[in-house]
Amino acid sequence: MSDLKEDLKIVAEAAELELKDAGPEEALEWVARTFGDSYIVASNMQDAVLIDLAAKVKPNFDVLFLETGYHFPETIGVRDAVAVVYPEVRIVNAAAEQSVEDQEREFGLLYQSDPATCCNLRKVIPLRRELAKYDAWVTGVRRVDAPTRANTPIVQWDDRNGLVKINPIAPWSDDEFNAYISEKGILENLLVQEGYPSIGCLPCTAKPLPGQDARSGRWAGQSKTECGLHG
Ligand code: SF4
Repeated sequence: MSDLKEDLKIVAEAAELELKDAGPEEALEWVARTFGDSYIVASNMQDAVLIDLAAKVKPNFDVLFLETGYHFPETIGVRDAVAVVYPEVRIVNAAAEQSVEDQEREFGLLYQSDPATCCNLRKVIPLRRELAKYDAWVTGVRRVDAPTRANTPIVQWDDRNGLVKINPIAPWSDDEFNAYISEKGILENLLVQEGYPSIGCLPCTAKPLPGQDARSGRWAGQSKTECGLHG
């Protein structure tokens, strides 16, 4: 590991303890103070909660959107609305090397035959390529999202991608999250109101069945539960 990455890892490990009970604003102030412009806020454009919180601390920052080419039009609409509502943010559209058309010509419908490879090509590799340009990234991961996320800390060292990862709203319940959206009038994907509590790419997102958890509609009918971005 390079000296820079060793230093970042030490920063992350110290902050994991110091900020373990920090609220979103405190965590995001620490991010802006510690990393200057060398951080990026990830968004799947399901809503603009994290972007709104980050903009309160610093209005100009980079936002990472994984432009897989398979998104719902409503998701692209949120991305475009974010650019209007938060004019100082810079949206980074991280795309795969191959267009969707070229990928389908070469491999067929990978999201059906091999979704892990599809996610790797269209999400994981573009994500790594962009994260390599920064010292830290900020995510909207919450502990209640899924059992795999139950122990998510506010700050952690992301060994896989080699930078600091901050999850400012990790402890938020669904009620806290939804209250922030309704009280502050935050942008939200229209599909949420139509019964999609967890929105990914169009071919891999279904409405959860009654009584099932929010992410159960992602890759429904397959054993896959994560894209490989966080788990
Ligand atoms: S969520 Fe589905 S369509 Fe999107 S990258 Fe993964 S497998 Fe491909």
